[in-house]
Amino acid sequence: MADAADYNDDLFFDDVDLDAHSSRTVDTEAIEFFPTDYRIGRTKYIFVTGGVMSGVGKGVFSASLGHLLKHYGFTVSQVKIDGYLNQDAGTINPYRHGEVFVLEDGTECDMDLGTYERFLDDDLNKNNYITSGKVYRIILDKERRGEYLGRDVQVVPHVTGEIKNLMRTKAHEGPYDILVVEIGGTVGDIENIHFIEAAREMLYDEGRDNVLSVHVTQVPYNEAAGELKTKPTQHSVKALLQLGIQPDIVVCRSAIPLSTSVRQKISLYCNIAEDRVISSPDTDSIYRVPTLLDRQKTVQIVADKLNVNLPQRPDQKPKVFDIYLKYLSKSHPEIRIAITGKYTALHDSYVSILNALDHSKVSVGAEIDIEWIDTTEFSGDRPPDAGVFEGISGIIVPGGFGERGAEGKIPFIQYARENGLPFLGLCYGFQLAVIEFARNQCGLRDAAHAEFDAETETPVIYLLPDQRKLAGMGGTMRLGGHEVKVRTGTMAHGCYGSELAMERFRHRYEFNNQYRELIEHKGMVFSGMTPDEEIMQILEIPTHPFFVGTQFHPELTSRPYRPQPLFRGFVQAALNNANSVEDQRLAVQAGQAE
Ligand code: GLN
Repeated sequence: MADAADYNDDLFFDDVDLDAHSSRTVDTEAIEFFPTDYRIGRTKYIFVTGGVMSGVGKGVFSASLGHLLKHYGFTVSQVKIDGYLNQDAGTINPYRHGEVFVLEDGTECDMDLGTYERFLDDDLNKNNYITSGKVYRIILDKERRGEYLGRDVQVVPHVTGEIKNLMRTKAHEGPYDILVVEIGGTVGDIENIHFIEAAREMLYDEGRDNVLSVHVTQVPYNEAAGELKTKPTQHSVKALLQLGIQPDIVVCRSAIPLSTSVRQKISLYCNIAEDRVISSPDTDSIYRVPTLLDRQKTVQIVADKLNVNLPQRPDQKPKVFDIYLKYLSKSHPEIRIAITGKYTALHDSYVSILNALDHSKVSVGAEIDIEWIDTTEFSGDRPPDAGVFEGISGIIVPGGFGERGAEGKIPFIQYARENGLPFLGLCYGFQLAVIEFARNQCGLRDAAHAEFDAETETPVIYLLPDQRKLAGMGGTMRLGGHEVKVRTGTMAHGCYGSELAMERFRHRYEFNNQYRELIEHKGMVFSGMTPDEEIMQILEIPTHPFFVGTQFHPELTSRPYRPQPLFRGFVQAALNNANSVEDQRLAVQAGQAE
């Protein structure tokens, strides 16, 4: 959570006596404040802006660039800027803006931070995420404390000054060689204008050798003419020029690679050398993007422009995401995984789950096909018919909030439990698995979850004691990284291979330990808990091939080269399930042929 007190308050006129000057304005236009010992030029900044339309893949581009720079030996971090007035993403519905990602320190943020963590293989923190709400809160707090010394507080220089300070705070934290700053939205939006202005000021303050601007645009393919159209890109670069920024590199997202003549056109109209027009056509995997950029010498172009030597020569560097490229070059047995939820129409709501499955499928050697199931259509009285499970080798019940769609998930959990179908329940999925088990296995027919039945007499899942005294929504849950003690000899222990794990949480409710004895007696095992053994964090059913639930979100910590162990275990179990179903089918076929 942004806290004004956390930021460096080294105002330019810190030494001015507030009382003596309260009645007059200090006559300086510069509101520059730097972290202590900040040295201009130590960190180079790359600003990534977007043009033409949103959703062109700026996040994947920024993450791929960060990944490549790191591969060449630079120390790198990445900042995501979002224009909205929310202080963080905690109160945003995933259906509107994609998944809420959670960092180790508990920051609830945009899903792009997840992409950065996966590509950088690094844990980020609150300083990697800036929103207009965060900036304005700092400013309004300062204004109330009288820190602006009688001045009128303005977008320029106060808001832009605070934005620059936040970026420098992150840069200095490393200090990093390069900070990649992605400005969300599209150039020309009202929401991000102050961020683009701050980037323009940085070009001047930090010096032209220390700041680079990359503009990512969409180059649409005109079906009728059979060609890519550059006009939207030209206009978008003009919009950026009007704001005082000449991009150094233009990255063109398109359905097909750019031809030489398209590159030439963009180069001519946008004042950019031809080799700085980077072609980024659609691919079958985001893990190809770094290689694609590397082939166009993107890092060399960046290093030239920023006047730095590459720490590692290109021939010394390891191959980027080579295991993914190898995986993509072969075919693999296909398995179908069902994801049940209420946000299934927007797949971005579950982007980390999809990534965790990707990491696991590469490690296990399987192709995964996703079946999205909207559980708002089902309930205990309206269960899915058996046909829904045809061809499914595993079920994931993801996290969620509120009543809608919750009861509909329970028959899916029951089916998985009773039919030996691999199951992974994440957060809400863990809680609902307990409810299902309590109702159908422990005779607690009225077992309920306090989130959708506050008055229940059988609160098997209830509000965390810490949560009872809290009011308000933003940042009030149990958030961020916490230790999980894993019980030896359990399935979870087999997956982790360790007795301690660090996982990320975002919840208000938890398992009510009053029911622990009964539930364990009936065959469900709590194989992970807080080190003080107070909060249950992993459940499993030892007699089932793979029935695991987690109070945390394992999808958030999965990385391309380190698939999250429970996800990997689940995908392996789903593959085993598919193989045994196939074996049975072949046996029946052989039996019929005899
Ligand atoms: N709504 C549940 C809770 O607050 C689950 C949260 C989640 O799935 N992230 O505990």
